Amino acid sequence: MNNTTNTIDLSIIVPIYNEQENIPELYRRLTEVAKQVTSNYELVFINDGSKDHSLHKLIELSKTDHHVFYINLSRNFGHQIAVSAGLDLCRGNMVVIIDADLQDPPELILEMVKKHEEGFEVVYAKRLQRKGETWFKKMTAKLFYRILKNITSINIPIDTGDFRLIDRKIVDYLKLMPEQNKFLRGQIAWLGFNQTYVEYNRDERRYGTTGYPLTKMIRFALDGITAFSDKPLTLVIQAGIAVSFVAFLMILYAIHGYFSEQKTTPGWASLLVSTMFIGGIQLISIGIIGMYISRINKNIMNRPLYLIQQTNLENKNSN
Ligand code: UDP
Ligand code: MG
Repeated sequence: MNNTTNTIDLSIIVPIYNEQENIPELYRRLTEVAKQVTSNYELVFINDGSKDHSLHKLIELSKTDHHVFYINLSRNFGHQIAVSAGLDLCRGNMVVIIDADLQDPPELILEMVKKHEEGFEVVYAKRLQRKGETWFKKMTAKLFYRILKNITSINIPIDTGDFRLIDRKIVDYLKLMPEQNKFLRGQIAWLGFNQTYVEYNRDERRYGTTGYPLTKMIRFALDGITAFSDKPLTLVIQAGIAVSFVAFLMILYAIHGYFSEQKTTPGWASLLVSTMFIGGIQLISIGIIGMYISRINKNIMNRPLYLIQQTNLENKNSN
């Protein structure tokens, strides 16, 4: 199981997508925190196809500081996959996942390490407040976490991102979950073990713009739901039953009308409405089923999750 030789105490994994302005302060604060934990740490930056000078900055840092490692993916694969690449290659006994934009305060890592020492394998960071994010983002995020909680059987913590500390054990188990549509916070919750949290106020993004526009957020939310719940399929069946029942009543009514009252209504409007209604339900249902099939399809193709163009980490074939 433990296929990595762990000579490193702490790995900090940071996915990077167009974060050139954030890198200097991020590096400074992470280094300061890591040094307080151990001298034996590594900072693993995953460049997820940035279009700015992020990669260049990372390479420069790695030349002056032997704690700095970079993994340059061959293109933009998305946040979850970038983090997965970091998890595959990092070597720490404790692993921290953190965003690059300084929305997650690096100083919180110290509290997480304390909890880990108390025996918790997973310490996630729970957001009390989110500063500087749009009303829309906060509301949709809140709604999503609550819906997810209601329709899944596992306990995915509410109002947390991927900012967390996990034990090597958890990392190794995550590597055994080869699914293509990653939803790491759900997978980690699914694993169990001793999990706890520390609370924090989420800061504003320091520089740059979000790499998570609405379309990506929706895709991510759907991944979370389809990975951990069959509830949408159940809803489809229930809707089908409800519609069929109404249709059945309408049939009775029509037959009754035809025979007893001898009146044949033109019925154009009701016909149109019911056809469209059923059509709508059918389309939604096919779409939902399609989402699940697409998951199966992706996993059957068994493509590599990501491709590495260049890295200064040796541990390349750990997966
Ligand atoms: N990120 C990434 N690939 C992407 C989008 C984002 O690696 O395609 C990184 C980004 O650099 C940051 C983290 O993922 O470190 C979170 O992204 P962001 O801050 O843009 O998301 P938000 O906080 O707005 O949800
Ligand atoms: Mg952010």
